[in-house]
Amino acid sequence: MNFKTQREKFRSKSISAKEAVQETIKRAKTDKLNIFINCFESEALSKAEHIDNNFAKFKDQPLSGVPIAHKDIFCTKDLITTCGSRMLKDFKPPYDSTVIDNCNNAGSIMIAKTNMDEFAMGSSNETSFFGPVSNPWSENLVPGGSSGGSAACVAADITCISTGTDTGGSIRQPAALCGITGMKPTYGLVSRWGMIAFCSSMDQAGPFSKDAFGCAALLDAMASYDLKDSTCSKRKKICYEKSLNDNLGNLKIGVIKNIEDLGIHKNILNSYETSKTVLQGLGHELKEIDFSELSSGICSYYVIAPAECSSNLSRFDGVKFGHRSAKQKDISELYMQTRSEGFGDEVKKRILIGTHVLSAGFYDAYYLKAQKVRRNIKNKFEEIFKDVDLIFMPTTLDQAFEKNRESSDPNRMYKEDLLTIPANLAGLPAISFPNGLKNNLPTGGQLVGNYFSESLLLNITNKIQEVTDWHKMTP
Ligand code: GLN
Repeated sequence: MNFKTQREKFRSKSISAKEAVQETIKRAKTDKLNIFINCFESEALSKAEHIDNNFAKFKDQPLSGVPIAHKDIFCTKDLITTCGSRMLKDFKPPYDSTVIDNCNNAGSIMIAKTNMDEFAMGSSNETSFFGPVSNPWSENLVPGGSSGGSAACVAADITCISTGTDTGGSIRQPAALCGITGMKPTYGLVSRWGMIAFCSSMDQAGPFSKDAFGCAALLDAMASYDLKDSTCSKRKKICYEKSLNDNLGNLKIGVIKNIEDLGIHKNILNSYETSKTVLQGLGHELKEIDFSELSSGICSYYVIAPAECSSNLSRFDGVKFGHRSAKQKDISELYMQTRSEGFGDEVKKRILIGTHVLSAGFYDAYYLKAQKVRRNIKNKFEEIFKDVDLIFMPTTLDQAFEKNRESSDPNRMYKEDLLTIPANLAGLPAISFPNGLKNNLPTGGQLVGNYFSESLLLNITNKIQEVTDWHKMTP
């Protein structure tokens, strides 16, 4: 069931919130893809009862009566929040993150927390302490990551909306690999308070749904100014759902010159060409743009992200919260044992890289240089947006890949983020939408917009989805 139908059923009283939750939990219990880390059945049922008893108050909220699953990176008061790590496997935060708070107030009911790559580091969901998630389209394949559980949850029709976070592509890439719609908003649009930090200068939460309509409603709930996050934007709130009806006029859309030289699979390029025709059919003009700086993004990201993660993850020391090793004689052994036991290999690798690039003697050569490349990419985007309204490109280089592929080439996965990372480096909003099936697996197209152009991105995706049925295809 899509989001619109689900919400309408509650609003028209054809089902109660409690019934919606019961149906959703029944589906969640049959999950064989390892989508969830923890389910919260009794909490969900009592929240649903509260919503049913206060129907008038919740009826017109953006997510009224809709069951939702949240990525296990958002702190939930008194409910285990693991971030996919052994370090936090029993951690119960004393507060709700702003995203959770906002979604609760908007009338949604959390039924579960979804599986994810450990501390959001990964593109395949294989780095989770709780085991890998399978792709609903084929169990041997990965769903993408790091928000793979959330994407699989919607693709498998368990919930019609879910939340994710995107630091280098973790909403858009799993959306593409699972055949759903996912959006990374402008940096600062959604509060990061209570969202466990990976790379604070790029982390951004955003919505998943089958279609742009569901994403718009969920973003309406998620986005808010928040005093508790100093990087949160103070702009006036707009209603994304309403702005889906705005007339777009004829837009100029940038397409990257010689994109086929970037090593993109022909299936992805095929779908890309088809969706370009759809955009033209909607009256938009395609304009070739030069963006040779694009591929330098990956090198910059894989220095800056580990640098920030090494600093952010220093708080997990066995003293304040999370795992504490039993094997310790003194304080340094406590730190060392706790971190050795608590973190998985990918996280340790990134902490090592991050500490290295920040250390005296290497800071200038790596970290500072990476920041210059980042600025260069941001400047390039600004230049491009003087000329075009949006940029269109594929979301990923390839479709969903097999589990355990990385063992042969540990850096291969990093290269997969080539097309998603630039938007994070610049802090720009971007949306991934399904644009066809090849070999019975989904492909994704990505639109990148200027700062705070979320309504434009959602609106144009909605217009595409009015004339195509790629988003209706199910595993
Ligand atoms: N794949 C990227 C990484 O591993 C992106 C992760 C993310 O967006 N959270 O860092």
